[in-house]
Amino acid sequence: MAEVKYDLIVVGSGPGGYVAAIRASQLGLKVGVVERAELGGICLNWGCIPTKALLKSANVFEYIQHAQDYGIHVKDASIDFSSMINRSREVAGAMSKGIQFLFKKNKIDVIQGFGKLKTGKKVEVENDGKKTDYTAEHIIIATGARSKELPAMPIDGKKIIGYRQAMTLKDRPKRMVIVGSGAIGVEFAYFYSTLGTDVTIVEFLPNIVPVEDEEVSKTLGRSFKKAGVKIMTDAEVTAVNTKGKACKVSVKTKKGEEVIECDIVLSAVGVTTNLESIGLEDVGVVTDKGKIIVDDYYKTNIPGIYAIGDIVHGPALAHVASAEGITCVEKLAGLNPDPIDYNNIPGCTYWSPEIASVGYTEKAAREAGYEIKVGKFPFTASGKAKAAGAPEGFVKVIFDAKYGEWLGAHMIGANVTEMIAEVVVARKLETTGHEIIKSIHPHPTMSEALMEATAAAYDEVIHL
Ligand SMILES: Cc1cc2nc3c(=O)[nH]c(=O)nc-3n(C[C@H](O)[C@H](O)[C@H](O)COP(=O)(O)OP(=O)(O)OC[C@H]3O[C@@H](n4cnc5c(N)ncnc54)[C@H](O)[C@@H]3O)c2cc1C
Repeated sequence: MAEVKYDLIVVGSGPGGYVAAIRASQLGLKVGVVERAELGGICLNWGCIPTKALLKSANVFEYIQHAQDYGIHVKDASIDFSSMINRSREVAGAMSKGIQFLFKKNKIDVIQGFGKLKTGKKVEVENDGKKTDYTAEHIIIATGARSKELPAMPIDGKKIIGYRQAMTLKDRPKRMVIVGSGAIGVEFAYFYSTLGTDVTIVEFLPNIVPVEDEEVSKTLGRSFKKAGVKIMTDAEVTAVNTKGKACKVSVKTKKGEEVIECDIVLSAVGVTTNLESIGLEDVGVVTDKGKIIVDDYYKTNIPGIYAIGDIVHGPALAHVASAEGITCVEKLAGLNPDPIDYNNIPGCTYWSPEIASVGYTEKAAREAGYEIKVGKFPFTASGKAKAAGAPEGFVKVIFDAKYGEWLGAHMIGANVTEMIAEVVVARKLETTGHEIIKSIHPHPTMSEALMEATAAAYDEVIHL
């Protein structure tokens, strides 16, 4: 059979890789995608989607437990842990099949196996011990990342686990220590604590969800307390003894050393990139601190080789990976896309209440030298939130006092992850606060809180 000549080969089919492949196909390129595991990468199979399926199960259970607040009596609700896990796996499997469908529709070839760069614009793909070389005009590396391991707690997959095991456990642990209070740690804390696990979160930095606004962090802290989740901040795990039936986690805090007993330790300290054995050194692609160095259009130092997603610097988020894939492909296909504005990337954390933010925090805006106007609107004053029985949280907006630029928005509350896109679009369109105040928001919705918070920044708030 004649060798297929590809315009583009993408190594990795996560949200960076599959979106790049589909966009390239739309632009008329012949595309092949190399994938060693499931189509859809971490996001669809082991990240964004299966976690949200688990969180939904926990959320339904939480609602049932509070059903009487809404005038409903439910007797003897109980959980079926393995059914929750199975549902999550089924959702992930269906999403992965969806990528298979999209590839077929877009006439994209799937090349199953482990891809490695070779000189001469080649990718060697190893599958079942057989090696085949493929050639392409352009090659995108989108090999993503995996759980990071700390020397004090090497992942053994049984007692010290990473996110993959955390979403496929056979039984619900009674006691769990989660190390790291970023989005992944917080989401698993919600899932397990809602189901009845005794959860302790250990965070190295002074605040939980350390990238978020300090007031958001404090509000989340109160919510943790209400849910019975213990928090240790300014705390470092120095060792985990897994020899006995229980794990003994040694934690160094400002007050001294403490030992916590638990069944399972979840390492949620971030991710490390899949850089190894993919031929970067053979071809001469330059890396720095575990990430591939790229320019504004994701070109590496080697002509014809690009990198996108978790493997490059920038926030390790699915929507970032996808946007990078589209920008990279449009540029290499001869279009003229704008580089990505990394200051306008929303971040979401799925506890209950949810957290969503974009742009400068209040502290960062002040530190950057802006004179700012800050507006805040609590959900206790929102009719929709009250009616929904979800009055926890607030919306905070930050504007530049001089020119009215919308510098940032920070929210904690029910469904705020669905509200943050308004801010992203408004900032992209360089909208001012007054345009937001004059944009009629539907009543009753949680989104009114954004309009009201903006009005509060300009001393025009009505419902406070
Ligand atoms: C538990 C968890 C929850 C998350 N939740 C969210 C969320 O809610 N929202 C969000 O935006 N982000 C979330 N993320 C982050 C998100 O999953 C990643 O940012 C995103 O998947 C990165 O996409 P990517 O394309 O860079 O690579 P990945 O999704 O990591 O995919 C890389 C793919 O490359 C393949 N691969 C690697 N090496 C090779 C090779 N040599 N040859 C062939 N194939 C290879 C892998 O098998 C994998 O399929 C979450 C992550 C985790 C772990």
